[in-house]
Amino acid sequence: MLLNELRDYNASLLQTGSFKDYCPNGLQVEGRAEVRRIATGVTASQFMLDAAIAWGADALLVHHGYFWRSEDATITGIKKRRIAELLRNDMSLLAYHLPLDAHPDLGNNAQLGKLLGLDMQGRFGEQDIACLGALSPSQTLAQFAAWIGGRLQRTPQVIGDSAKRIQKVAWCSGGAQGYFETAIAQGADAYITGEISEQNFHLAQESGVAFIAAGHHATERHGIRALGEHLAVRFGLEHRFFDQDNPV
Ligand SMILES: [Zn+2]
Repeated sequence: MLLNELRDYNASLLQTGSFKDYCPNGLQVEGRAEVRRIATGVTASQFMLDAAIAWGADALLVHHGYFWRSEDATITGIKKRRIAELLRNDMSLLAYHLPLDAHPDLGNNAQLGKLLGLDMQGRFGEQDIACLGALSPSQTLAQFAAWIGGRLQRTPQVIGDSAKRIQKVAWCSGGAQGYFETAIAQGADAYITGEISEQNFHLAQESGVAFIAAGHHATERHGIRALGEHLAVRFGLEHRFFDQDNPV
């Protein structure tokens, strides 16, 4: 298919135009016009570029691309090396951040809920990105944490009483520790996100709501992979997901 068709299809599928985000969503670096092989991965790191190029990808699709609002806008150092490699190999980079967290089926949060066997019951948070759902039957926090560790292949950091029964669960993939208070207000028994900050410990202690830091990378592997699989089926593309081991 043509790169422009891929770009436009994704824009409409993920409704990229309706999100306020910290980075451009869609085509970030333009490569060759025709796309047959797509690689997917969580972050457009050097590792991911090398893997996609070695495989012969025409386009790399990621959750974490480049050109974040807070970063230096110049193309120097690490950023220069990455972008030079993309351009030298004529490989496109497409990035989908918040729109990929939020998509009701392919999104990181929908996929995470499915992987953990949570019944999705509602959404909350900025732009309705976070999810609320039920764990049935309920489990103790210790059981639930072990289950999450097995499903994500990473042991989570857990703050809370291990004997507490967990039924109502709130979750948001990645670095969404800032939504913890909103999750508490929603009446959740536990909140799952990728990363934890110092104040989350105290909020967990004082609210009695468990905080589960299950890994930023580990909780965001599933959306971009599901998008790649969807595109492969829809357009007959070759797709491969590359996973870089990242403990954070
Ligand atoms: Zn993220």
